[in-house]
Amino acid sequence: MHPLDRLSAHLGGARVWAKREDVNSGLAHGGNKTRELEHLVPEALAQGADTLVPIGGYQSNHTRQVAAVAAHLGLRAVQDVRAAGGTPHAIPAGASDHRLGGLGFARWAEEVRRQEEELGVFFDTVVVCSVTGSTQAGSTQAGMVAGFAAQDRPRRVIGIDASAELAETRAQVERIARRTADLIDLGRDLREDEVEVLLGWAGERYGVPVASTLEAIRLVGRLEGVVLDPVHEGKSMAGLVDLVRGGRIPPGSNVLFAHLGGQPALNACSALFRD
Ligand SMILES: *Cc1c(COP(=O)(O)O)cnc(C)c1O
Repeated sequence: MHPLDRLSAHLGGARVWAKREDVNSGLAHGGNKTRELEHLVPEALAQGADTLVPIGGYQSNHTRQVAAVAAHLGLRAVQDVRAAGGTPHAIPAGASDHRLGGLGFARWAEEVRRQEEELGVFFDTVVVCSVTGSTQAGSTQAGMVAGFAAQDRPRRVIGIDASAELAETRAQVERIARRTADLIDLGRDLREDEVEVLLGWAGERYGVPVASTLEAIRLVGRLEGVVLDPVHEGKSMAGLVDLVRGGRIPPGSNVLFAHLGGQPALNACSALFRD
């Protein structure tokens, strides 16, 4: 976790920090999927699985991380296991539809609380990319919402929709947040205002960057040397930039940008950066 002081000065408002899931693990490319797998894979091991079977879309960060975790543990990761005499363990898309899929980021919220104590700072606002669709589903924000609800401090978690499906993303985040809240024994209902997802930076569809995405990627690369991807984090950063610059996140705020990884997608989009 570290401040983005040159970006903050450039935007002229709130102070922006980043928590870096892109460098969270030392396994392949890291990212939010690694945290989710941390809670799913022990169950696979306990059931005697020798092979992990993930589902994911084109350029899936999830399948990349499942392959890395499998390699690390001496398991295999493929799609066609029983026929070859193996014992598979299926990992749902983005790990989100798994019962335990929200726990990784509920624990992340606790980690933030500890880091705040160490650093002597309080993040009143957290900005995170949120996605829904057939191959993944909002468990990152949902886990955070449940985890921060247990702390009950005046903190906003702002999800920035990157799939151009606001109603679906919000419904999915809310569903997984409630399930995760039950799992961690929150002991109260989540309030409506605890699930906040904003639309406006996704463009027309999931996976396709728009001008504001590319501007955000260039800005943060040039000012901070932090690399963002064109599918997810470029979009959530574009949201943060507008919210801070326009004062919707007020100047006195400390904002935490959750950098969820995803840089390998840049390889497929290099043509967009030729200039
Ligand atoms: C999967 C992913 C997301 C979205 O996470 P959800 O939990 O599905 O909302 C955001 N950023 C990156 C880099 C991802 O790989």
